[in-house]
Amino acid sequence: MITAEAVINLKSLSDNYDRLKQQCANRSVIAVIKGDAYGHNAIKTAQTLAQADMFAVSRIEEALELRAAGIHQPVLLLEGVFCQRDLEIAASEGFHTAIHCQEQLEDLRQANINTPISVWLKLDTGMHRLGVQPYELSDYVGQIHATNKLAGPVGFMSHFSCADDFESLTTKRQIELFLSQTAPFPGPKTLANSAGILYWPNSHLDYQRAGIALYGISPNEEQVGKQHGLKPAMTLKSKLIAVRSHHANQPVGYGETWSSQQDTSIGVVAMGYGDGYPRSIPERTPVYINGREAPIVGRVSMDMITVDLGPHARDNVGDDVEFWGDNLAIEKVAKHIGTIPYELTIKLTQRVHRRYISQ
Ligand SMILES: *Cc1c(COP(=O)(O)O)cnc(C)c1O
Repeated sequence: MITAEAVINLKSLSDNYDRLKQQCANRSVIAVIKGDAYGHNAIKTAQTLAQADMFAVSRIEEALELRAAGIHQPVLLLEGVFCQRDLEIAASEGFHTAIHCQEQLEDLRQANINTPISVWLKLDTGMHRLGVQPYELSDYVGQIHATNKLAGPVGFMSHFSCADDFESLTTKRQIELFLSQTAPFPGPKTLANSAGILYWPNSHLDYQRAGIALYGISPNEEQVGKQHGLKPAMTLKSKLIAVRSHHANQPVGYGETWSSQQDTSIGVVAMGYGDGYPRSIPERTPVYINGREAPIVGRVSMDMITVDLGPHARDNVGDDVEFWGDNLAIEKVAKHIGTIPYELTIKLTQRVHRRYISQ
């Protein structure tokens, strides 16, 4: 019997893509499927999103895996490549690449490219992580075009640092800076991530880059995906493998970190940090079982989690326990834990069985 499993609804992924596309008036949407599609399986996700205008990943290995699986849409390398050889591979595979620094420009100059390549110049508008500075922009554009290796006019990209905050002045400044700096150039432009698509309509440009929202998750921790018409694509669940009657004042688990105040029932669930469920959760993080929420108590073990089912519990061995998904919003769980949903889905380990449904 399978216990720990992530059920991934492919139909929801497709519906979410369409929903996001509608949100930006049918402009192009790049499906960001880096990190194995945030733990949802990049190949299955790409195969499902036949309608996607483009895909984006972080590393060339991720892009090559998509090609090997027969995915033929354009793939954007969000951080570009880091040596000439990889640039040559990117060109021959038809990948779009980013240029964000002098070294990458130099590689483009030197590389032995037979097929023209699509290049996106990354502008630093305030994140201060990657990208060329506004005063360097036109010089870079000139130098990139001068290589004569481009498939079309250079595109422009920048990334938000605070767009999940609806009121962010930084985001307003980033949008203004990006629009004013790139206005003189004809190439395609992309600024919005999921938060930009959902909360910043004036960041909608030729292309948007949708990651977290594609998986049905809200980028803002106070909201849930359903409020934006999105459907959570992943449900993480497992099964009760023991239900034990437990006396008041007895501890549970490693380190005796928790003791019950009253006589109760403790449910043991086959899920642990070995599956990627965080060990560092605070006491009383909720799970969903038989129509209600119940708190996790005691330490998360490698393979097991203990839940206080309450004194009158009627739960049985074999019952389903949900950790996040259809009945328990991952945004709520992440907030309780003090992290973001991205980290929860991407950290699930290989041991968690993946089941794909399409309904
Ligand atoms: C990961 C990433 C995205 C997607 O961000 P979400 O918040 O998941 O929508 C977009 N652009 C870049 C450059 C990224 O690295």
